[in-house]
Amino acid sequence: MPHATRDGRSWQPEFLVAIDAKKCIGCGRCFKVCGRAVMVLKGLNDEGEFVALDDDEDEEIEKKIMVMNDDGACIGCGACARVCPTNCQTHAAQAPVLSAAGAD
Ligand code: SF4
Ligand code: SF4
Repeated sequence: MPHATRDGRSWQPEFLVAIDAKKCIGCGRCFKVCGRAVMVLKGLNDEGEFVALDDDEDEEIEKKIMVMNDDGACIGCGACARVCPTNCQTHAAQAPVLSAAGAD
């Protein structure tokens, strides 16, 4: 699908499609530059399970990582890629095809 800037120049969006949980350090830089709420910061406990960050149970949190929140909201601006210090994000020219697995 062709894309264009405001004045009609060709523009190729690079959509965020994945974040490598092993490499992400949870710095939050990508979250701050994204205006589309595509990502959200989550806590992980020492068993690798997600722990809520919005209560007072910080002792349980082993590390924080950024995860996908709303893939479909991404406009492919690439800002998150430019600020990530660990290069743990994957971008693709086409939006991810949502799996129909589980659909009846
Ligand atoms: S490419 Fe842009 S819109 Fe998409 S997640 Fe990154 S900062 Fe947000
Ligand atoms: S900028 Fe990179 S390392 Fe930092 S939270 Fe985002 S994905 Fe993780």
